Amino acid sequence: MTSPKYKRIVLKLSGEALAGDEGFGINPAVIKSIARQIKEVAELGVEVAVVVGGGNIWRGKTGSEMGMDRATADYMGMLATVMNSLALQDSLEQFGIETRVQTSIEMRQVAEPYIRRRAIRHLEKKRVVIFAGGTGNPYFSTDTTAALRAAEIEAEVILMAKNNVDGVYTADPKVDKNAKKLQELSYLDLIKDGLQVMDSTASSLCMDNDIPLIVFSITEEGNIKRAVMGEKIGTIVRGK
Ligand code: UDP
Repeated sequence: MTSPKYKRIVLKLSGEALAGDEGFGINPAVIKSIARQIKEVAELGVEVAVVVGGGNIWRGKTGSEMGMDRATADYMGMLATVMNSLALQDSLEQFGIETRVQTSIEMRQVAEPYIRRRAIRHLEKKRVVIFAGGTGNPYFSTDTTAALRAAEIEAEVILMAKNNVDGVYTADPKVDKNAKKLQELSYLDLIKDGLQVMDSTASSLCMDNDIPLIVFSITEEGNIKRAVMGEKIGTIVRGK
């Protein structure tokens, strides 16, 4: 059997990825499928850190468009990511996977606070670490959190799981029939062409720290493992 290509990964799950086709809330079947896929790679000895989004529950931008104070709306978004993280933790534990949630905003009754060295220790002990609460700062995204945490814990790659989208396209494939899937591109291309993969703060952070990103569909079971084994799935975005 061949060994995994990556030893330590950051898996970015958007809130949407947890919602399934409904687009809102947490779909139990979907979260179970994700937990099963994480278990598969954890059992290979791969150290898995997960950054969970919150868009399936609340987005700061929506609140601010409704006239709310942006920072307050963003804090609500960060809390939404905690709910998702706990749901994922529960599901992973039901599969017998040891898991720790660490929050960037302290809520000690619910989870550990984020402590980098402690997170690394958990990973070394093969516990799945879920980073909740984003960066802990308004005006940021969980994509940026994934980039930041990946740099901090020295992950080799970020796996960005998408719902029903299997990579980066030249245009939105749902709108433009001529949109072509890209196999590989650079962060500079991503920013220059304004491709809607991640925000520019996250892209810059990945680029500056030379962290590759694989964009793939999580809807197809087994895809996390395929990506970890180095199979060519989705689109790879590189720093250089
Ligand atoms: N958020 C934030 N700071 C962060 C991460 C997230 O303020 O560091 C807020 C922001 O309002 C965002 C919401 O949390 O809209 C949910 O996160 P995100 O939109 O990244 O989730 P996803 O799109 O991945 O589901």
